[in-house]
Amino acid sequence: MTLQIGPWQLDSVHGGSFRSDGGAMFGVVPRVLWTRHVEPDEKNRIPSRCHCLLARDGKHTVLVDTGYGPKCSPRLKELFALEEGNPLLESLKRLGVPPEEITHVVLTHLHFDHAGGGTLRDEGGELRLAFPRARYVVQRLEWEVATSRAPELAGAYPQENLQPLEEQGVLELLDGPAEYLPGLWLLPTGGHTQGHQVVLFRSGEQGALYPADICPSSLHLATMWCMAFDTEVVQTRRVKRHWLRQAAQHRWWVIWDHDPQQAAARVVADSKREFVVSESREVV
Ligand SMILES: [Zn+2]
Repeated sequence: MTLQIGPWQLDSVHGGSFRSDGGAMFGVVPRVLWTRHVEPDEKNRIPSRCHCLLARDGKHTVLVDTGYGPKCSPRLKELFALEEGNPLLESLKRLGVPPEEITHVVLTHLHFDHAGGGTLRDEGGELRLAFPRARYVVQRLEWEVATSRAPELAGAYPQENLQPLEEQGVLELLDGPAEYLPGLWLLPTGGHTQGHQVVLFRSGEQGALYPADICPSSLHLATMWCMAFDTEVVQTRRVKRHWLRQAAQHRWWVIWDHDPQQAAARVVADSKREFVVSESREVV
């Protein structure tokens, strides 16, 4: 999928497919409801993907989120049926973008399926940056929570994804909303994680929103259909409505981070189901 928003060319980048527990993906929504829309496998898992986003304006080459990367443990690989290899780097290669060309890695939040691909292990087992010339950009609040090692967040933030960023001095921590580059906005939302942010590209009448895990797929359009991973689900419901309204009103593209079929869609308000997809771009 390629979209053009003013100077920004946006390409969907495959960060790896996976399977996730259906109950975890839909939180309080009863199984009898979500199974009308998606069929789980024998382990109750539904198909999912990591869609990262490559944004180029001629001066900057920005990668938004990095998928789960190649370092996951065998247990995690089996649990989530993760793809072997490094789907993110392979996908970038198909677009003709070597890792050294990435100038910025924007992380919506630091869960393993978003931050894992930013680092890798070399042949000697040493951790290193997957994008050696990039600065890595995240909200300060997200960074502080992710590195707090709070026992109640055990497992949410593998430190091997984070340590190298600090050690190599490539981190840029943001304090709140910003037009980070011309036409590229980073906007904190909270909800899914305390320091979660969405990415918005705007140019005149055109716009594209990457809501990340506030609305991970076209099956999450309804206010109450949120993931069980959300640390503050009421906030997710609130900001999701806000941003979907904006997207519907302005006819912005919404770029999904975990939809198994669609890469992006336009949405319209609907009296019964709040929002429905009016037009979509398939995963290629
Ligand atoms: Zn995610």
